[in-house]
Amino acid sequence: MSSSEPHRTSLIRERAFELGFDLFGTAPARPMPERAEVLRLWCSAGMNAGMGYLARDIEKRSDPRMLMPGAKSVIVTGLSYNTSAKQKGEGVPILSRYVYGQNYHDAVKGRLTELLGFLRDLYPGAGGVAYADSGPLMEKAWAVEAGLGWQGRHSVVINRDIGSFFFLGLIITDAVLEYDRPFSEDLCGSCRICAESCPTGAINDDHTIDARRCISNLTIENRGPIPPEFLAATGRRVYGCDICQEVCPWNRMAPEHKHPEFGLPEEIENMSLNDWLNLDEANFMRLFGNSEVARKKYLPFVQNVTDVAKQ
Ligand code: SF4
Ligand code: SF4
Repeated sequence: MSSSEPHRTSLIRERAFELGFDLFGTAPARPMPERAEVLRLWCSAGMNAGMGYLARDIEKRSDPRMLMPGAKSVIVTGLSYNTSAKQKGEGVPILSRYVYGQNYHDAVKGRLTELLGFLRDLYPGAGGVAYADSGPLMEKAWAVEAGLGWQGRHSVVINRDIGSFFFLGLIITDAVLEYDRPFSEDLCGSCRICAESCPTGAINDDHTIDARRCISNLTIENRGPIPPEFLAATGRRVYGCDICQEVCPWNRMAPEHKHPEFGLPEEIENMSLNDWLNLDEANFMRLFGNSEVARKKYLPFVQNVTDVAKQ
Protein backbone atom coordinates (compact mmCIF):
# COMPACT_ATOMS: atom_id res chain seq x y z
CA MET A 1 0.00 0.00 0.00
CA SER A 2 1.41 3.40 -0.89
CA SER A 3 1.56 6.02 1.83
CA SER A 4 -1.14 8.03 0.08
CA GLU A 5 -3.91 5.47 0.62
CA PRO A 6 -4.80 6.51 4.16
CA HIS A 7 -4.97 10.12 2.99
CA ARG A 8 -7.10 9.35 -0.06
CA THR A 9 -9.38 7.09 1.98
CA SER A 10 -9.89 9.84 4.54
CA LEU A 11 -10.81 12.23 1.71
CA ILE A 12 -13.38 9.71 0.42
CA ARG A 13 -14.74 9.30 3.95
CA GLU A 14 -15.08 13.08 4.31
CA ARG A 15 -16.80 13.32 0.93
CA ALA A 16 -19.24 10.56 1.96
CA PHE A 17 -20.25 12.56 5.03
CA GLU A 18 -20.56 15.74 2.91
CA LEU A 19 -22.93 13.84 0.63
CA GLY A 20 -25.09 13.12 3.66
CA PHE A 21 -24.12 9.56 4.48
CA ASP A 22 -24.26 8.87 8.21
CA LEU A 23 -21.89 5.91 8.18
CA PHE A 24 -18.85 4.95 6.13
CA GLY A 25 -16.51 1.97 6.26
CA THR A 26 -14.12 0.05 4.06
CA ALA A 27 -13.02 -3.57 3.80
CA PRO A 28 -10.68 -5.52 1.55
CA ALA A 29 -12.61 -7.47 -1.10
CA ARG A 30 -12.47 -11.18 -0.27
CA PRO A 31 -14.58 -14.28 -0.72
CA MET A 32 -16.88 -15.02 2.22
CA PRO A 33 -17.36 -18.80 2.16
CA GLU A 34 -18.57 -18.76 5.77
CA ARG A 35 -21.43 -16.43 4.86
CA ALA A 36 -22.18 -18.40 1.69
CA GLU A 37 -22.69 -21.49 3.84
CA VAL A 38 -25.13 -19.68 6.17
CA LEU A 39 -27.11 -18.47 3.15
CA ARG A 40 -27.09 -21.93 1.58
CA LEU A 41 -28.42 -23.57 4.75
CA TRP A 42 -31.04 -20.84 5.22
CA CYS A 43 -32.32 -21.25 1.66
CA SER A 44 -32.29 -25.03 1.82
CA ALA A 45 -34.45 -24.85 4.96
CA GLY A 46 -36.96 -22.90 2.85
CA MET A 47 -36.59 -19.73 4.94
CA ASN A 48 -36.20 -17.58 1.83
CA ALA A 49 -39.96 -18.05 1.34
CA GLY A 50 -39.79 -18.72 -2.38
CA MET A 51 -37.47 -15.76 -3.10
CA GLY A 52 -35.52 -17.94 -5.51
CA TYR A 53 -33.06 -15.21 -6.47
CA LEU A 54 -31.54 -15.46 -2.98
CA ALA A 55 -30.61 -19.09 -3.61
CA ARG A 56 -29.09 -18.44 -7.03
CA ASP A 57 -25.44 -17.56 -7.64
CA ILE A 58 -24.48 -17.94 -3.99
CA GLU A 59 -20.79 -18.17 -4.96
CA LYS A 60 -21.06 -14.91 -6.83
CA ARG A 61 -22.98 -13.27 -4.03
CA SER A 62 -20.28 -14.14 -1.55
CA ASP A 63 -17.27 -12.97 -3.58
CA PRO A 64 -17.08 -9.38 -4.88
CA ARG A 65 -14.24 -10.40 -7.18
CA MET A 66 -16.70 -12.48 -9.17
CA LEU A 67 -18.89 -9.43 -9.66
CA MET A 68 -16.01 -7.16 -10.58
CA PRO A 69 -12.79 -8.81 -11.76
CA GLY A 70 -9.82 -7.23 -10.03
CA ALA A 71 -11.93 -5.90 -7.13
CA LYS A 72 -9.75 -4.86 -4.22
CA SER A 73 -12.04 -3.00 -1.86
CA VAL A 74 -15.61 -2.70 -0.68
CA ILE A 75 -16.95 0.62 0.58
CA VAL A 76 -20.05 0.43 2.76
CA THR A 77 -22.24 3.42 3.56
CA GLY A 78 -25.23 3.93 5.86
CA LEU A 79 -27.97 6.52 5.41
CA SER A 80 -30.25 6.96 8.42
CA TYR A 81 -34.03 7.04 8.11
CA ASN A 82 -34.70 6.94 11.84
CA THR A 83 -37.70 9.04 12.78
CA SER A 84 -40.30 9.43 15.49
CA ALA A 85 -42.90 10.62 12.93
CA LYS A 86 -46.05 8.51 12.98
CA GLN A 87 -49.26 8.34 10.98
CA LYS A 88 -51.93 10.12 12.98
CA GLY A 89 -55.23 8.71 11.71
CA GLU A 90 -57.04 6.42 14.14
CA GLY A 91 -56.98 2.73 13.19
CA VAL A 92 -55.25 3.42 9.87
CA PRO A 93 -53.12 0.91 7.94
CA ILE A 94 -49.50 1.19 9.09
CA LEU A 95 -46.54 1.77 6.77
CA SER A 96 -43.03 0.79 7.68
CA ARG A 97 -41.03 3.94 8.29
CA TYR A 98 -38.53 3.17 5.54
CA VAL A 99 -41.19 3.93 2.92
CA TYR A 100 -42.29 7.26 4.37
CA GLY A 101 -40.40 9.31 1.81
CA GLN A 102 -38.61 9.03 -1.49
CA ASN A 103 -37.57 5.65 -2.85
CA TYR A 104 -34.36 4.92 -0.96
CA HIS A 105 -32.71 3.17 -3.89
CA ASP A 106 -32.60 6.51 -5.72
CA ALA A 107 -31.47 8.44 -2.65
CA VAL A 108 -28.64 6.00 -1.89
CA LYS A 109 -27.63 5.36 -5.50
CA GLY A 110 -27.40 9.07 -6.33
CA ARG A 111 -25.02 9.65 -3.44
CA LEU A 112 -22.98 6.51 -4.20
CA THR A 113 -22.58 7.56 -7.84
CA GLU A 114 -21.20 10.92 -6.72
CA LEU A 115 -18.90 9.22 -4.24
CA LEU A 116 -17.62 6.87 -6.93
CA GLY A 117 -16.94 9.87 -9.19
CA PHE A 118 -14.93 11.46 -6.37
CA LEU A 119 -12.97 8.22 -5.86
CA ARG A 120 -12.15 8.12 -9.57
CA ASP A 121 -10.80 11.66 -9.40
CA LEU A 122 -8.44 10.51 -6.66
CA TYR A 123 -7.60 7.20 -8.36
CA PRO A 124 -7.54 7.95 -12.10
CA GLY A 125 -8.54 4.88 -14.11
CA ALA A 126 -10.08 3.07 -11.13
CA GLY A 127 -13.11 0.89 -11.79
CA GLY A 128 -16.09 0.70 -9.50
CA VAL A 129 -19.70 -0.45 -9.25
CA ALA A 130 -22.31 0.99 -6.88
CA TYR A 131 -25.13 -1.03 -5.35
CA ALA A 132 -28.10 0.32 -3.42
CA ASP A 133 -29.85 -2.83 -2.28
CA SER A 134 -29.86 -3.76 -5.93
CA GLY A 135 -26.97 -6.14 -6.52
CA PRO A 136 -26.34 -9.68 -5.46
CA LEU A 137 -23.90 -8.76 -2.68
CA MET A 138 -24.47 -9.74 0.95
CA GLU A 139 -24.81 -6.20 2.18
CA LYS A 140 -25.24 -6.93 5.87
CA ALA A 141 -22.14 -9.12 5.95
CA TRP A 142 -20.12 -6.37 4.28
CA ALA A 143 -21.44 -3.80 6.72
CA VAL A 144 -20.03 -5.90 9.57
CA GLU A 145 -16.80 -6.47 7.65
CA ALA A 146 -16.37 -2.71 7.13
CA GLY A 147 -16.91 -2.04 10.85
CA LEU A 148 -20.33 -0.35 10.70
CA GLY A 149 -21.86 -2.58 13.34
CA TRP A 150 -23.06 -6.07 14.14
CA GLN A 151 -25.92 -8.13 12.82
CA GLY A 152 -28.57 -8.07 15.55
CA ARG A 153 -30.67 -11.02 16.59
CA HIS A 154 -33.34 -9.72 14.20
CA SER A 155 -30.69 -9.93 11.42
CA VAL A 156 -30.59 -6.19 10.75
CA VAL A 157 -27.23 -4.41 11.17
CA ILE A 158 -27.04 -2.21 14.28
CA ASN A 159 -24.64 0.69 14.68
CA ARG A 160 -23.93 1.72 18.26
CA ASP A 161 -24.44 5.44 17.47
CA ILE A 162 -27.37 5.53 15.05
CA GLY A 163 -29.16 2.24 15.75
CA SER A 164 -30.53 0.09 12.95
CA PHE A 165 -32.87 2.29 10.94
CA PHE A 166 -30.47 3.02 8.09
CA PHE A 167 -30.09 2.08 4.43
CA LEU A 168 -26.96 0.33 3.28
CA GLY A 169 -25.08 1.18 0.10
CA LEU A 170 -22.01 -0.53 -1.35
CA ILE A 171 -19.27 0.28 -3.82
CA ILE A 172 -16.91 -2.39 -5.14
CA THR A 173 -13.74 -0.94 -6.57
CA ASP A 174 -10.31 -2.02 -7.79
CA ALA A 175 -8.73 0.90 -5.94
CA VAL A 176 -6.73 -0.10 -2.88
CA LEU A 177 -7.89 1.79 0.23
CA GLU A 178 -7.07 1.94 3.88
CA TYR A 179 -9.36 -0.50 5.68
CA ASP A 180 -11.48 -0.39 8.79
CA ARG A 181 -11.54 -3.26 11.25
CA PRO A 182 -14.47 -5.68 11.02
CA PHE A 183 -16.94 -5.24 13.87
CA SER A 184 -16.25 -8.32 15.96
CA GLU A 185 -18.60 -7.93 18.94
CA ASP A 186 -22.19 -9.08 19.34
CA LEU A 187 -23.67 -6.32 21.45
CA CYS A 188 -27.05 -8.07 21.66
CA GLY A 189 -25.60 -10.05 24.55
CA SER A 190 -28.35 -11.96 26.32
CA CYS A 191 -31.11 -9.62 25.09
CA ARG A 192 -34.02 -11.34 23.34
CA ILE A 193 -36.50 -8.46 23.27
CA CYS A 194 -36.94 -8.50 19.48
CA ALA A 195 -37.47 -12.27 19.34
CA GLU A 196 -39.99 -12.08 22.16
CA SER A 197 -41.81 -9.15 20.53
CA CYS A 198 -42.09 -10.54 17.01
CA PRO A 199 -45.80 -11.30 16.57
CA THR A 200 -45.21 -14.20 14.19
CA GLY A 201 -42.20 -15.83 15.87
CA ALA A 202 -40.09 -15.20 12.77
CA ILE A 203 -36.78 -14.58 14.55
CA ASN A 204 -34.52 -17.64 14.67
CA ASP A 205 -31.86 -18.29 17.28
CA ASP A 206 -28.95 -17.71 14.90
CA HIS A 207 -29.50 -14.03 13.96
CA THR A 208 -31.55 -14.96 10.90
CA ILE A 209 -35.27 -14.65 10.30
CA ASP A 210 -37.73 -17.02 8.72
CA ALA A 211 -39.08 -14.98 5.80
CA ARG A 212 -42.07 -17.34 5.56
CA ARG A 213 -43.30 -15.89 8.85
CA CYS A 214 -41.99 -12.33 8.61
CA ILE A 215 -44.63 -9.63 8.13
CA SER A 216 -42.24 -7.61 5.97
CA ASN A 217 -42.13 -10.43 3.48
CA LEU A 218 -45.81 -11.30 3.85
CA THR A 219 -46.92 -7.74 3.08
CA ILE A 220 -44.33 -6.82 0.43
CA GLU A 221 -42.69 -9.67 -1.49
CA ASN A 222 -45.46 -12.22 -1.05
CA ARG A 223 -47.55 -12.58 -4.19
CA GLY A 224 -51.14 -12.83 -3.26
CA PRO A 225 -53.01 -11.78 -0.15
CA ILE A 226 -51.60 -11.96 3.38
CA PRO A 227 -52.07 -15.63 4.37
CA PRO A 228 -55.12 -15.88 6.68
CA GLU A 229 -53.12 -17.64 9.42
CA PHE A 230 -50.90 -14.54 9.73
CA LEU A 231 -53.59 -11.89 9.38
CA ALA A 232 -54.25 -11.39 13.09
CA ALA A 233 -50.52 -11.14 13.86
CA THR A 234 -50.01 -8.71 10.99
CA GLY A 235 -52.37 -6.29 12.68
CA ARG A 236 -52.69 -3.09 10.68
CA ARG A 237 -49.35 -3.41 8.88
CA VAL A 238 -49.80 -3.13 5.13
CA TYR A 239 -46.24 -2.50 3.95
CA GLY A 240 -43.41 -3.84 6.06
CA CYS A 241 -42.98 -4.21 9.80
CA ASP A 242 -40.76 -2.30 12.22
CA ILE A 243 -41.62 -4.06 15.48
CA CYS A 244 -38.33 -5.86 16.06
CA GLN A 245 -36.37 -2.67 15.41
CA GLU A 246 -38.73 -0.42 17.35
CA VAL A 247 -38.35 -2.47 20.52
CA CYS A 248 -34.56 -2.71 20.25
CA PRO A 249 -32.79 -0.79 23.03
CA TRP A 250 -30.15 0.37 20.52
CA ASN A 251 -32.80 2.43 18.73
CA ARG A 252 -34.08 4.14 21.87
CA MET A 253 -31.43 6.85 21.86
CA ALA A 254 -30.76 6.88 18.12
CA PRO A 255 -30.81 10.37 16.60
CA GLU A 256 -33.50 11.41 14.10
CA HIS A 257 -32.39 11.39 10.47
CA LYS A 258 -31.63 14.71 8.75
CA HIS A 259 -32.74 13.78 5.25
CA PRO A 260 -35.84 15.70 4.12
CA GLU A 261 -36.47 13.22 1.30
CA PHE A 262 -37.30 10.52 3.87
CA GLY A 263 -39.88 12.64 5.71
CA LEU A 264 -43.49 11.50 6.10
CA PRO A 265 -45.59 13.78 3.85
CA GLU A 266 -48.25 15.65 5.77
CA GLU A 267 -51.05 14.32 3.61
CA ILE A 268 -50.11 10.69 4.32
CA GLU A 269 -49.51 11.47 7.99
CA ASN A 270 -53.09 12.75 8.32
CA MET A 271 -54.97 10.24 6.14
CA SER A 272 -58.03 8.82 7.89
CA LEU A 273 -59.15 5.21 7.67
CA ASN A 274 -61.80 6.36 5.23
CA ASP A 275 -59.16 8.02 3.04
CA TRP A 276 -57.21 4.77 2.97
CA LEU A 277 -60.25 2.67 2.12
CA ASN A 278 -61.18 5.04 -0.72
CA LEU A 279 -57.68 5.39 -2.16
CA ASP A 280 -58.01 5.23 -5.95
CA GLU A 281 -55.20 4.46 -8.35
CA ALA A 282 -54.62 8.08 -9.37
CA ASN A 283 -54.17 9.13 -5.74
CA PHE A 284 -52.06 6.05 -5.00
CA MET A 285 -49.68 7.11 -7.77
CA ARG A 286 -49.76 10.75 -6.68
CA LEU A 287 -48.94 9.89 -3.07
CA PHE A 288 -46.70 6.86 -3.53
CA GLY A 289 -45.45 6.95 -7.12
CA ASN A 290 -42.03 8.12 -5.98
CA SER A 291 -41.92 5.85 -2.96
CA GLU A 292 -40.91 2.27 -2.39
CA VAL A 293 -44.62 1.45 -1.91
CA ALA A 294 -45.16 1.72 -5.68
CA ARG A 295 -43.23 -1.56 -6.03
CA LYS A 296 -46.27 -3.32 -4.65
CA LYS A 297 -48.54 -1.96 -7.40
CA TYR A 298 -51.95 -0.52 -6.73
CA LEU A 299 -54.21 -3.58 -6.59
CA PRO A 300 -52.07 -5.80 -4.32
CA PHE A 301 -51.49 -2.82 -2.01
CA VAL A 302 -55.20 -2.06 -1.78
CA GLN A 303 -55.83 -5.76 -1.12
CA ASN A 304 -53.54 -5.50 1.93
CA VAL A 305 -55.37 -2.36 3.07
CA THR A 306 -58.75 -4.04 2.74
CA ASP A 307 -57.59 -7.23 4.44
CA VAL A 308 -56.17 -5.53 7.52
CA ALA A 309 -59.12 -3.13 7.77
CA LYS A 310 -61.54 -6.07 7.99
CA GLN A 311 -60.05 -7.23 11.26
S1 SF4 B 1 -40.08 -7.44 10.77
FE1 SF4 B 1 -41.82 -7.91 12.13
S2 SF4 B 1 -42.46 -10.00 11.58
FE2 SF4 B 1 -40.41 -9.66 10.70
S3 SF4 B 1 -39.01 -10.45 12.23
FE3 SF4 B 1 -39.27 -8.27 12.69
S4 SF4 B 1 -40.98 -8.19 14.18
FE4 SF4 B 1 -40.99 -10.21 13.22
S1 SF4 C 1 -33.74 -6.18 20.64
FE1 SF4 C 1 -32.02 -7.01 21.78
S2 SF4 C 1 -31.58 -8.98 20.79
FE2 SF4 C 1 -32.86 -7.82 19.40
S3 SF4 C 1 -31.43 -6.81 18.03
FE3 SF4 C 1 -31.87 -5.37 19.70
S4 SF4 C 1 -30.25 -5.73 21.22
FE4 SF4 C 1 -30.26 -7.46 19.80
